[in-house]
Amino acid sequence: MGTTRTVRTARTTRTRVAAGIALGVVTALGATAPASSAATGAPPPGRPGPPPVGHDLPKVAVMTGSGGAVASVDPVASQVGIDVLAAGGNAADAAIATAAALGVTEPYSTGIGGGGFFVHYDARRRTVETIDGRETAPMTYTERAFLDDQGRPLPFDTVVSSGLSVGVPGTPATWERAAQRWGTERLGELLKPAERIAARGFVVDQTFHDQTVANATRFSTFPETTRVFLPGGQAPEVGSVFRNPDLARAYRELRTRGVDSLYSGRLGRAVVDEVRDPGTKAGASVPEGRMTTADLKAYRALDKAPVRSEYRGKDVYGMPVPSSGGIAVGEILNLVEAYDERTGTPTSEVDAVQYLHRFSEASATAFADRNRYVGDVAGVPTTELLSQGFADERACPFSPTAAQPRPIPFGTPDGSYGACAEGTASGTLAHDDVSTTHLSVVDRWGNAVAYTSTIEATGGSGITVPGWGFILNNELTDFSFAPVTPGVPDPNLPGPGKRPRSSMSPTIVLDDGALELVAGSPGGATIITTVAQILLGHYERGLPIGDALAAPRLSSRNGASEQAEPAIAGGPVGTGLTALGHRLTPTAEIGAATAIRVLGPDLYTAAAEPTTRRGGGSAMVVRPQR
Ligand code: GLU
Repeated sequence: MGTTRTVRTARTTRTRVAAGIALGVVTALGATAPASSAATGAPPPGRPGPPPVGHDLPKVAVMTGSGGAVASVDPVASQVGIDVLAAGGNAADAAIATAAALGVTEPYSTGIGGGGFFVHYDARRRTVETIDGRETAPMTYTERAFLDDQGRPLPFDTVVSSGLSVGVPGTPATWERAAQRWGTERLGELLKPAERIAARGFVVDQTFHDQTVANATRFSTFPETTRVFLPGGQAPEVGSVFRNPDLARAYRELRTRGVDSLYSGRLGRAVVDEVRDPGTKAGASVPEGRMTTADLKAYRALDKAPVRSEYRGKDVYGMPVPSSGGIAVGEILNLVEAYDERTGTPTSEVDAVQYLHRFSEASATAFADRNRYVGDVAGVPTTELLSQGFADERACPFSPTAAQPRPIPFGTPDGSYGACAEGTASGTLAHDDVSTTHLSVVDRWGNAVAYTSTIEATGGSGITVPGWGFILNNELTDFSFAPVTPGVPDPNLPGPGKRPRSSMSPTIVLDDGALELVAGSPGGATIITTVAQILLGHYERGLPIGDALAAPRLSSRNGASEQAEPAIAGGPVGTGLTALGHRLTPTAEIGAATAIRVLGPDLYTAAAEPTTRRGGGSAMVVRPQR
């Protein structure tokens, strides 16, 4: 761990952060890239050579202490953030450095080739602000971008692994903007640990191995992806060292030439060339994309006001459009409050079956509304969707004795709410991919970051940029290929420069302006239900934050059936839900969340997943409480 020298204000620390990074556990292991330009995969145990980075860091799911906290899915990445905090960096510095490290150790979930949403709390000003780093569609995309000549939607699986699905990456621009707005350190310094991890390697865990195996067929279509991620034609073995010198080179490029290399330089040209003509193995071909260097040049990570909803007297802040996350999480919480009113029994007092019944009904209702109204278009009725009046009206059909038939119709957020309005039939979405990563950070001054980033599917488009070691996103598959409900306007059809609707829900909760909770998760559309369930578990069911994360999850998204983890689906709670009319689909695991709960001045509990989900996450604080 880095030094814990006393630094009084975040704004005076620029040089000290750099010094601290150099001293950190993760980064002190060496700065020289191996000579080879190919990923080296799996050296035999005992082979001499530089040690991989962070190979002996334990995975701890819950940690309480002071000095700042970081929670991510990966201990090497969390340690990078802790090193930055310990050296005097602030939450934004630590979040950027952690995210860059995750781009190395979680290359199938996030990285330079993707996008995300960065939510920041400034403790001094007591304000929450966000950066929208979502990928954009090329300017040539129209509503018909994913239709064939006959107007039929293209096969989803074909589009996923193709240039057509690749949006203009927003992640480097997000890092640069966040560093400018809130950081104390130059972006170049914050990228150094990631570069070193890529160069020195990290130890392959079961999740990385399994994700590689699951993608092996798709990856093998693309020779460059095969070369980097299937060294010797195989998924790297658990316990072996995975190095990605090409990716180290990409970080070095961003570090020394700035993110302009992506948006107007040689890195960008490499991206465009590959998107427009993806390199495939002999006999294979995939649809070409239409991204141009002008699309890259036009890209901006956007400053956006967060959405805010009131819940139990607290302020819940999340991402606005093009994410549906903030809106849908807020509506779910409002609906649960409305059910309390209608039934006269607080959710904190009902049994486990009724609790999940309420949660499921609220989630399905919120999904009906977000599918109808939320997309990257003007005029999304955000304020109305988040109003308690709308939630009260939408709560009208709720019954404690029976689940509403699915799909639940969408409502009318028009500002005039009566007793029971009739909804309009809505369709459900066919595809919910599960990947992405979320990190939570709080610094010793109480500044905080909730940052969810993604390349969409696990393994993104499967296309690696030749010579640069990172995979391009397939985010544009988050657009509706055709209207979800025939005959009903769909705000999420593709369009020029448009950002596909997201479910990512980086969330910050304030109590009377003071930071209380930071949370988020990956998991496609299940992100919304996972984040809402963590908040409900903590605030309604009284679970400490670590238990609220560990609690078994349900994800009801207005489809005919809803996903339930085994502890729900296979037990008495599942039986109770089924008796109420819920159709449960047992699902091994949902989400891979992280959170931080503020306990007092400079005292935090950081929480990540137990080992039952994605092999467990990594919660760290600078100074653990004994
Ligand atoms: N692309 C998804 C979204 O923005 C996230 C992907 C995932 O978590 O699997 O909602």
